[in-house]
Amino acid sequence: MRKLELHWQILIGMLLGILFGFAMTYVDWGKDFVSDWIQPLGTIFVKLLKLIAIPLIVASLVKGISDLKDISKFRNIGLRTIGIYIITTVFAITIGLVLVNLMQPGNGISQETVEKLTDTYAGDAGVTSKIEEASRQKGSGPLQFIEDMVPDNAFAAMSDNGLMLQVIFFTIFLGISMLLIGEEKSKPLKDFFDSMNEVVLKMVDLIMLTAPYAVFALLAGVVVSSSDPDLLLALLKYALVVVLGLALMIIFYGILVSVFTKKNPFWFLKEMSPAQLLAFSTSSSAATLPVTMERVEEHIGVDKEVSSFVLPVGATINMDGTSLYQGVAAVFISQALGFDLTFADQLTIVLTALLASIGSAAVPGAGMVMLVIVLESIGFPSDKLAIGLALIFAVDRPLDMCRTIVNVTGDATVSMLVAKSVGKLGEPKVKNWDDNLKK
Ligand code: ASP
Repeated sequence: MRKLELHWQILIGMLLGILFGFAMTYVDWGKDFVSDWIQPLGTIFVKLLKLIAIPLIVASLVKGISDLKDISKFRNIGLRTIGIYIITTVFAITIGLVLVNLMQPGNGISQETVEKLTDTYAGDAGVTSKIEEASRQKGSGPLQFIEDMVPDNAFAAMSDNGLMLQVIFFTIFLGISMLLIGEEKSKPLKDFFDSMNEVVLKMVDLIMLTAPYAVFALLAGVVVSSSDPDLLLALLKYALVVVLGLALMIIFYGILVSVFTKKNPFWFLKEMSPAQLLAFSTSSSAATLPVTMERVEEHIGVDKEVSSFVLPVGATINMDGTSLYQGVAAVFISQALGFDLTFADQLTIVLTALLASIGSAAVPGAGMVMLVIVLESIGFPSDKLAIGLALIFAVDRPLDMCRTIVNVTGDATVSMLVAKSVGKLGEPKVKNWDDNLKK
C-alpha cells in the first residue's frame, strides 16, 4: 500500500486532535487529562524542533556563505531579501487596513459585549503581561535594534533561541572570514559544517516522523484551553476579517511565485504544506524554521546559499501575517471603543506595524505585544490599553495559528523570489530519513 503523504498524515492528526479535544471538554477530568497526559507530547515535539534550530542555522549559513565564493553575491542576496520583505509586509498591512475599513467589524460590537470581554480579560495575566512586555521593549533608543543584533559572546548567543539575529550576525561574520582566508585553509572548517548540516537536516526528517502524533497533542491542548464559545462568536466578524486578509496574502504569494519564478503555485503550496500545518499547530515560526528550511531546500529546490540566509532572517523579521493582524486589530479596537482614526493615523499604523513585525519574536502571542506599541503610536489612551487587548484576547490564539502560516509562507515565497533572481533556484532533491539504511 502506498504510504499516505506527510501533509495528509499531519492533517488527519490535527483533525483527530481537535475532535478529541472537543470530546474531552465534555468530561469532568478531560481538561486535566489532556494537559497531564497529551499536551506534553506536543511540547516535546516543539522542544525538539527548537533544539536543532540554532545548530541548523549555524551549519547551513556557514555552508551557504562559504559556497558563494564571492562576497558581492551575498550583498545582492541580502539587499534583495530585505527589500522584498519590506514590500510584502507593507502590502500585507495595507490589505488588512483596507478590509477592516470596508467591513467595519468593530462597529457591530455592543456595549454589553465590550463590558463582558473587559470583565473577563482586562485583568487577565495574559493581557497585562503583554502590556508590560511592550513597555519594556518600547523604552529603547532608535539604534537599539541594531545594537541588539551584535553579540558580545558568541556562545551565549547560541545558547538562547531568542537571540537568533545575534547568531546570524556571528555566523555571517564567520562565513565571510572563511571566504577571505581562501579555499584551502577554510576547507577543514567547511567540511565540518557541511557534515553537521547534513546531520541536522536528517534530525529534521526524524523529528517529522512524529509530526502527525505531535499535532494531535498540540491541537487537543489548544481546544481544551480555548475560551468560552459565546465570546468567540461575538468576535466572529473581526476574526473573519483577519482570516480573509490572511487568505488573500496566500493568494498574493501564489501570484508572486507564478509570475516571478514561473512555477506552479499549487505545487509550491503543496510542497510547503507540512511546514504550514506545523506553523498552525505550534503558532511559532521559530519552532517551524527547521522544517521550513528542509522543505524549501529539498522539496522546492532553493539553493542553500539563499535559503540559509533568507529563512532564518525571515523567521525573525518578516511577519506578514502578524503585521496584517496588527493593522486589523488596531482599527477594530478603535472602532469598538469609539476612538476615531484619521487617515494620518492609519498611515502611522502602516509604519509602526512594519517596525513592530520586525521587532516581534517568532513565538506564540508575540504579535499582541507589538500591537500595544502600534496602538500607542496612534495616541490610543494608555488607560484603555487593557480594555483594547481584552477585546481581542479570546480569539487571539486561533488567529495566531493562522497568521503564523502566513509568516512562514511569506518567508518561503521570498526565498524563492530571491533565489530565482540570483539564479539559485534549482530542481528539488528530496532526501528521506532512511536513504542510507541497509534494507
Ligand atoms: N506566532 C507568530 C509567529 O511565530 C507571531 C505572532 O504573530 O504572534 O510567527
